[in-house]
Amino acid sequence: MPELPEVETTRRGIAPLIAGCQIAELILRVDKLRWPLDQSLCQSLPGQTVISVVRRAKYLLLSCNKGTLILHLGMSGSLRVIDAESTENKHDHVDLIFTNGSCLRFNDPRKFGALLWCAGDAADHPLLNKLGPEPLSAEFSGDLLWSASRNRKIAVKPFVMDQKQVVGVGNIYASEALFRAGIRPDVAAGKISRSRYQQLVAAIKEILAEAIEAGGTTISDFRQSDGKPGYFKQQLQVYGREGDACPHCSQPISCIRLGQRSTYYCQNCQR
Ligand SMILES: [Zn+2]
Repeated sequence: MPELPEVETTRRGIAPLIAGCQIAELILRVDKLRWPLDQSLCQSLPGQTVISVVRRAKYLLLSCNKGTLILHLGMSGSLRVIDAESTENKHDHVDLIFTNGSCLRFNDPRKFGALLWCAGDAADHPLLNKLGPEPLSAEFSGDLLWSASRNRKIAVKPFVMDQKQVVGVGNIYASEALFRAGIRPDVAAGKISRSRYQQLVAAIKEILAEAIEAGGTTISDFRQSDGKPGYFKQQLQVYGREGDACPHCSQPISCIRLGQRSTYYCQNCQR
């Protein structure tokens, strides 16, 4: 599933190619992705210009003259900017064609992505208006998590994966950040000290920034007409490594279920 670093990599890949471009045509090849597609966009989008491409959580926001196109990659979606004449491949469900002959093409085998229009301020959209801070923003701090977690009995891992606390910390990055900060994933959120939350927040920011940097090497792929752009394997220390030697102490990595999610950690290094 595309996580925040892949979505940010996608944004960096497509933004310079489509910002400032005028929309000529919208082609919808399916009736619905996660939600039904709004066919009226085929009439209302042409003539508008994509002013900017920003990311909020895992949503890409294409700001246009009359509102914002909200895109989500879902479980399996990817975006490329290609020649509008390129033959479509299987699962190429949406084309946003520009007057310069290029095309933003959305491929989504599992059809769990989203394409929505918001005429008002996108920040007020129901999908966006309850989200917590961006993980790489100054607003997201150890003090903030510490304050929000007082008296909370929920385990720290699902706590940091809660989009109301901070957005974009998915299952892989939560496991990796807790390992880097030396915190057991099943400790009650309310039992963790302010200084350990500061370590955890530093680890979350470092790991996401490293993943985005790793994705930077794939940016040229956004122009390719086939294959999957922008996804990359990061070096993972504990995630998916049950039974492997811990990179710090060589004890085997454990796997437990926590909040219905596979959770990897080192019993020796994480307390
Ligand atoms: Zn260890």
